[in-house]
Amino acid sequence: MRVLVTGGAGFIGSHLCERLVSDGHEVLCVDNFFTGSKQNILPLLGNPRFELIRHDITEPILLEVDQIYHLACPASPVHYQYNPVKTIKTSVMGTINMLGLAKRVRARILLASTSEVYGDPQVHPQPETYWGNVNPIGIRSCYDEGKRVAETLMMDYHRQNGVDIRIVRIFNTFGPRMAEHDGRVVSNFIVQALKGEDITVYGDGSQTRSFCYVSDLVEGLVRTMSCEGFTGPVNLGNPGETTILEFARRIIALTGSQSQIVFRPLPSDDPKQRQPDITLARTTLGWEPIVPLETGLTKTVDYFSGLGAGSGS
Ligand code: NAD
Ligand code: UDP
Repeated sequence: MRVLVTGGAGFIGSHLCERLVSDGHEVLCVDNFFTGSKQNILPLLGNPRFELIRHDITEPILLEVDQIYHLACPASPVHYQYNPVKTIKTSVMGTINMLGLAKRVRARILLASTSEVYGDPQVHPQPETYWGNVNPIGIRSCYDEGKRVAETLMMDYHRQNGVDIRIVRIFNTFGPRMAEHDGRVVSNFIVQALKGEDITVYGDGSQTRSFCYVSDLVEGLVRTMSCEGFTGPVNLGNPGETTILEFARRIIALTGSQSQIVFRPLPSDDPKQRQPDITLARTTLGWEPIVPLETGLTKTVDYFSGLGAGSGS
């Protein structure tokens, strides 16, 4: 099949492109390199089944494809808050453009949505049936509400135009190729620990997250795409929940770092708890994460060490 991956030069997108090429597909990667990089897809660049197109998805694009994995959108709070108007345009206009493309060429389209659609959740763990608790005017809204509108657009194109859709709600995912300075907790803590710098815990560190290794997530994406007669939304994430303070301690222990934990102000609207209910993914896709947190973290530490994060560079 010919498969389009928007945001294919990003963290998750680059792993997905690799997987799809190795499964024998022809892959078109569309990216504007806002947070992605050619470095991420370097191993694929000489491959005849891989094509890279520099393009901003807020503008329409004409392509002939069978499937679309629609991932393009900055995912780290630091990046999506850098230009919030652009972030919401990417989610709304970008998703309209991709849905228009899917409609024209009758391609199946999968949206990479997010656990952020649940906002600061009052139901725990979060099942897909929960409608969420999102501040529509806060600093995270450009991302959260953008993704909520993207989900709405997916469902409306499906109901109104019969577009074949899949919606996945991705929970915190980590692994090699996270951008070193993208501000997310996994990359921040590992880079800080390797450099012997202070580990910056925001708030008192009692907020929780559940971290999924990228290869598990990619498997979930591929299974959702190939599951017949199933639109989702479906949660994809690892139910193993940890407080951020506990996570900081784990990273220090894993890296053998001398770093100290310091506390910094909690950004506004930072969700207090997050854990996916993955019952639907288990029963419908036969999917659940298999990579233990420690194993995933070790691979990620190795990746950042290889970039020179431990050498003070
Ligand atoms: P990322 O920032 O590494 O990748 C996003 C990619 O999209 C980058 O390559 C970027 O250059 C590209 N992009 C951004 N705006 C674009 C535009 N207007 N036109 C074309 N390309 C554009 O982030 P990621 O972690 O790989 O996330 C990928 C997707 O998964 C995003 O949609 C994100 O919302 C979703 N997601 C990720 C996580 C996570 O924990 N990583 C959690 C929930 C949802
Ligand atoms: N966080 C932190 N220190 C950092 C970066 C993040 O304590 O250096 C916290 C952040 O406040 C949040 C959690 O870690 O509670 C996860 O943050 P991240 O930006 O990785 O993802 P998100 O908040 O989008 O889940």
